[in-house]
Amino acid sequence: MYNNFQKYLQKEIQGIKDAGLYKNERIIITPQGAAIKTEGEGDVLNFCANNYLGLADNKDLIAAAKKAMDERGYGMSSVRFICGTGDLHKQLEKKIAEFFGTEDTILYAACFDANGGVFEPLFGEEDAIISDALNHASIIDGVRLCKAQRFRYKNADMADLEEQLKAAQKCRHRIICTDGVFSMDGNVAPVDKIYELAQKYDALVMVDESHSAGVVGNTGRGTTEHYNLRGKVEILTGTLGKAFGGAVGGFTTGKKEIIEMLRQRSRPYLFSNSIPPMVAAAALEMFKLITKDNHLQDKLHNNTTYFVDKMKKAGFDIKPTQSAICAVMLYDAPLSQKFASELSKEGIYVTGFYYPVVPKGQARIRVQVSAAHTTEQLDKCVNAFTKIGKQLGVLK
Ligand SMILES: *Cc1c(COP(=O)(O)O)cnc(C)c1O
Repeated sequence: MYNNFQKYLQKEIQGIKDAGLYKNERIIITPQGAAIKTEGEGDVLNFCANNYLGLADNKDLIAAAKKAMDERGYGMSSVRFICGTGDLHKQLEKKIAEFFGTEDTILYAACFDANGGVFEPLFGEEDAIISDALNHASIIDGVRLCKAQRFRYKNADMADLEEQLKAAQKCRHRIICTDGVFSMDGNVAPVDKIYELAQKYDALVMVDESHSAGVVGNTGRGTTEHYNLRGKVEILTGTLGKAFGGAVGGFTTGKKEIIEMLRQRSRPYLFSNSIPPMVAAAALEMFKLITKDNHLQDKLHNNTTYFVDKMKKAGFDIKPTQSAICAVMLYDAPLSQKFASELSKEGIYVTGFYYPVVPKGQARIRVQVSAAHTTEQLDKCVNAFTKIGKQLGVLK
């Protein structure tokens, strides 16, 4: 039975390889961190993790997870509404709402699920979803699962957004949804202007804070801190898998009735397992750590400024960024691959991005700065970039 299908898959896979788009996974054999060891490439400095606050191997988080494992066991073996809700889950939901200045929170197994389950329960055929063209795949999939009418505006283009809002005026309810930080460029969405337009055209706003939570804003409370809109944006989604410890888990936080409705109707919540108690406990410890003082957020901001300045001084073309993402523009796809593999020989672990992940002719290397990086490690990265940049004719 498998024969024909196997041939079909083999041909498709070969097509992916021929197009140079086949993804190989590199294998890490240490905890995730600034300095890691990989199979094949040995010891490298990691500049491509979402480990923005350097918490993926944090001792306090590990201790909290171990303690919770002793006290609450390994897993919940249930969805939340049957018997998968623990005290730690409830505490974490409250803590997330406190952190973002929202009314209530609902946890998911991942932010992919949070986005997948946020639209369908809230909006129907009479409603409109107005989405940024560069939104994350999980928002796109979430919108697809919903019967609402779809409108799309060019990335962060407020004139286009206004056009789409006008076109959607006939609908019952409208929601504008956007990534907080766009992961390929590192730019923060203009949530201030989006919010203004939402007031003018009677729309709700949803921001995915996955790359902005813990990163953007003086204390890392995301785009609503950055734009002084705390408590105003109706829906925020986010992940525990990036700055917030890097394990797994997602959430939607916002207005009380929205969260209440999601608990009743959101399919990835109703039909999928609870996050393990140890993850909830470590996340609670994480919030304790990052709200006790601001040293990790300050370190991340200082590191990012330092790195971007040095790269610009070295002569690199860097996309304007207000996050910890630094896109080093090379424009040429094979060059970006070659550049990344040469950097790996210098002990710098980064990834080249090219079409279809970014538009044609916009190939780049994305560097992600972390609070875990030392100044010496940042210097090593800039020096390696400079060396390879000269070698490959990118720098004069
Ligand atoms: C990473 C990311 C997600 C997915 O988060 P997971 O918790 O890993 O599923 C969703 N949205 C955006 C914008 C992201 O960057």
